Amino acid sequence: MSQGQEPPKKRFPLTLDLVTGSADRKRSSTAPRLNSLQTATRNAAKHAPESKVVTPTITSARPLNTPAVTKLAPTVIQPRSTNSPLVSDAVRKAMIQRLAQQGIKDAKVLAAMEAVPRHMFIEPGLASQAYIDASLPIGYHQTISQPYIVARMIEVLRDGIEGKMSRVLEIGTGCGYQAAVLAQVAEQVYSIERIRPLHEQARNNLRSLLIPNLRLHYGDGMLGLPQVGSFDGIILAAAGMEVPQALLDQMAIGGRLAAPVGTKNQELRLIRRVRRNEWTTETLERCHFVPLRPGTFG
Ligand code: SAH
Repeated sequence: MSQGQEPPKKRFPLTLDLVTGSADRKRSSTAPRLNSLQTATRNAAKHAPESKVVTPTITSARPLNTPAVTKLAPTVIQPRSTNSPLVSDAVRKAMIQRLAQQGIKDAKVLAAMEAVPRHMFIEPGLASQAYIDASLPIGYHQTISQPYIVARMIEVLRDGIEGKMSRVLEIGTGCGYQAAVLAQVAEQVYSIERIRPLHEQARNNLRSLLIPNLRLHYGDGMLGLPQVGSFDGIILAAAGMEVPQALLDQMAIGGRLAAPVGTKNQELRLIRRVRRNEWTTETLERCHFVPLRPGTFG
């Protein structure tokens, strides 16, 4: 938000046009805009803890775009009883419609996105923005990924298979949102976070959702989880200069890995392990993620 600008008035409950963007489109052309790319780093900077809330303009354009183990209790996803009225099924449904317009075709992915209450992963001050198509700050200069890119990565990981994936690994739990979505489409999900307070935050966010097939780990995700075995899907929520070899090695034969690669100019890559010593790489679209970093913090 530019200096001296008043924070937008909160409207409770959010109306559908606010979520789908038609209300924003009616606003003045000087209103702050967020890029529809995965603007993780830029948004994290914009939403530094002391900064005020911005109201992004929503666009329907398709973006170019051995650690400690925490077991979570038993998968019914229910919104918290303390929800504010702004959190409605209609708002989430509008997000699903927008995702479909943006090109997400996999019905199982759309259903998973509809099942997970994204607002529960966002601090209350930003909850009114939970269903817009933007990444949002979660602290420690990290972000919850933009809904489009969450759905897109899971769609390419699933590759149109009929049933559930069996074992999936996520690098970069952050607030736990994508892990919760993954848990709707995979039998077992493991997610690693390198920043301890975020790992704890994710655990807290997820506790009341009772997702039995999700395991959170605190550690360096660049090492993967060799003790667990091979994964038929691996997803990186942070961008490195290349995909760590340890992760390539932990892919099952026939497995898929989706990852952003690069620094400033990042691209989303889909890697398939076709044989023991053979991987193929496909470049999908431009994207923007926070950096993949080695080691742990906190
Ligand atoms: N999956 C999240 C996105 C979190 S942002 C969502 O649902 O929106 C990416 C996260 O990756 C950050 O929390 C960051 O700390 C984490 N990260 C970066 N490098 C990592 C590494 N080597 N191991 C584990 N997590 C890492």
